[in-house]
Amino acid sequence: MVRDYPRPRIVISRCIEFDPCRYDGSKIPSPTVVRLKAHADCMPVCPEVEIGLGIPRATVRIVRIDGVDHLIQPATGRDVTSEMTGFASRFLDSLPPVDGFVLKGGSPTSGASGVRVYPSAEKSQAIERTAGFFAREVLKRFPGLPIEDELRLNNARIRDHFLTGIFTLAAFRAIENQQDREPLVQFHAANKYLLMACHQQLMREMGRLVASRAKTEKEELYARYRRMLCAALAQVPRYTNNINVLHHTMGYFSNRVSGEEKAYCLRLIDRYRDGHATLAEPRDLLRSWVIRFQEPGLLDQTFFAPYPVELADLPEDITDRGRDVWKSRNAPNAREKPGTFKKG
Ligand code: SF4
Repeated sequence: MVRDYPRPRIVISRCIEFDPCRYDGSKIPSPTVVRLKAHADCMPVCPEVEIGLGIPRATVRIVRIDGVDHLIQPATGRDVTSEMTGFASRFLDSLPPVDGFVLKGGSPTSGASGVRVYPSAEKSQAIERTAGFFAREVLKRFPGLPIEDELRLNNARIRDHFLTGIFTLAAFRAIENQQDREPLVQFHAANKYLLMACHQQLMREMGRLVASRAKTEKEELYARYRRMLCAALAQVPRYTNNINVLHHTMGYFSNRVSGEEKAYCLRLIDRYRDGHATLAEPRDLLRSWVIRFQEPGLLDQTFFAPYPVELADLPEDITDRGRDVWKSRNAPNAREKPGTFKKG
């Protein structure tokens, strides 16, 4: 059950783990992006540097004037709206097919949501929240692609959803280039349970489309399948769908595992249902059964491993794993050497 993962192609804000190109010359940390670099083809971009604002630079903000948003640098009074929209168009027009975006949250240029809009370039209260100028063009041109910011990727469920999306789309892009009908049959079969967990109705429609492949022009076939695939992957994952798939796949082993093993698996599913465990707990147990019994109906199912396992681990600085908690707890009075204990 070892999968080869085509490398997703993703556009990333350059200040996230690539270059210290923020207005103050800093760089943004992101454990997910650090790990992604080894598994994805990243295309870093800093629109503010590209339009010549330099590093360091005075900050820009979105200012709404007579109902129209402008990108303004209050310290200099410069209005860089047309430079920014021009750059965004040229850059996005020149992109090869991509599978997703990781954009710097909160930036008036790159933030995909929640960016403050001001009524004036002077000191004032924000009147609305929206997307940054570069991000608006991204959202307009790539409505079906996974687009996240680096902070949201620190959340395990959001990260799982994003990674599932970009790796599934990269695998689809690999067969899309061939434009043969048969690889699409295999792709759909291998993603059956993953799509069932995303959106059952779309999964069935996609199945009907694949079944009618001989009657559909290849280009039309792939274009329609891509639209449905993007729509299915964009769904906010519902835990009830995942539980359905877990129960369904558990049925493959009903006569092959002991009552005690089944009860343990059900307990993990309940833990996931109650929010005490991530999907990975019951899914990994079922995956171990797939491997143990070499179950042909499930061996190629992407549901069990939608992206490389190295990306599935929680980043160390989000959990406590990267921190020496003993050392930090004892730090103020740390007289003992590691491994020694106080009595009593
Ligand atoms: S948020 Fe965007 S514009 Fe700002 S430094 Fe990062 S990449 Fe450049």
